Amino acid sequence: MDKEEYLQTYKDCLRDAESSALSSAVITRSAPYSAQLSAQVSPCAWLDVSAPFQITVTMADGGKQIVQDRSLHFSQASVADIARLLDQVVVTECRLGFCHRPAFSPAQFLTNREGLCEKCYIVRLGIV
Ligand SMILES: [Zn+2]
Repeated sequence: MDKEEYLQTYKDCLRDAESSALSSAVITRSAPYSAQLSAQVSPCAWLDVSAPFQITVTMADGGKQIVQDRSLHFSQASVADIARLLDQVVVTECRLGFCHRPAFSPAQFLTNREGLCEKCYIVRLGIV
């Protein structure tokens, strides 16, 4: 595929995605420790037709988790798939004993948060 073909494919995908309710669908749910989660299709899933289907789950207090389904592509996916992948996300209590905020479970998906909530993670990084 040369550059022109690639750009045309990219533009076609962008146009298709804009008209697709799937690319803009947002699914929300409550989780343990008062967490509020919202999930959307990650842009890479509809910008690159060969990419696996992927959602980005955002926690209201901060923090994101990527969930992929390697057996699925955007063109075959539905809003129900967003909900299905969101249901795989496990929320635990931040692993620091004094902190009772929600955190994404490190046992579930690849993450560099190691069971810390977003606030404790940022503090550990020394950013604040
Ligand atoms: Zn914490």
